[in-house]
Amino acid sequence: MRFDDKIALVTGAGSGIGRAIALRLAEEGAVVVAGDIHLAGAEETIELVESAGSSGLAITQNVADPADAERAVQTAVERFGGLHLAVNNAGIPGVNLPIADLEIEDWNRLIAINLNGVAYGLHFQIPAIIASGGGAIVNMASVAGTVAVPENPAYTASKHGVVGLTRAAGADYGASGVRVNAVGPGFISTPLLAELPDEVTADVAAKHAMGRLGRAEEVAAMAAFLLSDDASFITGSYHVVDGGYTAV
Ligand code: NAD
Repeated sequence: MRFDDKIALVTGAGSGIGRAIALRLAEEGAVVVAGDIHLAGAEETIELVESAGSSGLAITQNVADPADAERAVQTAVERFGGLHLAVNNAGIPGVNLPIADLEIEDWNRLIAINLNGVAYGLHFQIPAIIASGGGAIVNMASVAGTVAVPENPAYTASKHGVVGLTRAAGADYGASGVRVNAVGPGFISTPLLAELPDEVTADVAAKHAMGRLGRAEEVAAMAAFLLSDDASFITGSYHVVDGGYTAV
């Protein structure tokens, strides 16, 4: 299997896309450290990981706190002997208002989680992965890493930032045995979208060339590909999984 003997850390692993990625990595052999600000969700994910025949550990982690980012990496190394794969997935949708109306504290909160959280993750994960003999990282961007989500400037800026950070890390560590790539999902049917009214969900689905929302498993398939040796010559790049959302 592609991830036999690999140790993986997934942030925001207690729900949606992060859970699907944790499960996919486990199904292909990885031991998974599942971090989430809500421990109960991460614990449920680890139950699924164990049902898939692998093992792992659920931890409480706020990605906006650099001390938590460091502790998550230390946990992987101390409990399981190293770190090979990391997925910086945790994110929030933020408040829908144009920039002049957005409260500064809402801007700061979203950037702290969606952008700073990825930077803190990379800061601690990359040296641990190099020390473990190399590996790969996936950062969760969005189609908002390439086009705007209307009335969501903080989310749009954070995801453009994640794409830029991914390119920078890919460029800086290309020769160090750590590949770093970003995934840009279209609108995916997860709890993050659950609060949208049905008519809004239908409108959003229609904006994808394929006429539907995506599934978390379809994003997990791309993440697993980029983390695997099948993607051995791919780094510093951004891959949409968007049913044609950005094609039209
Ligand atoms: P989700 O709400 O289902 O899951 C997000 C998880 O992150 C939750 O378990 C939550 O508890 C956790 N989390 C939130 N803040 C955290 C923090 N500060 N520290 C650690 N964990 C935290 O959402 P999802 O749809 O699975 O989204 C996952 C990622 O995918 C996000 O980065 C999101 O921006 C991105 N994304 C989602 C969609 C979509 O349509 N669902 C589209 C594009 C990109």
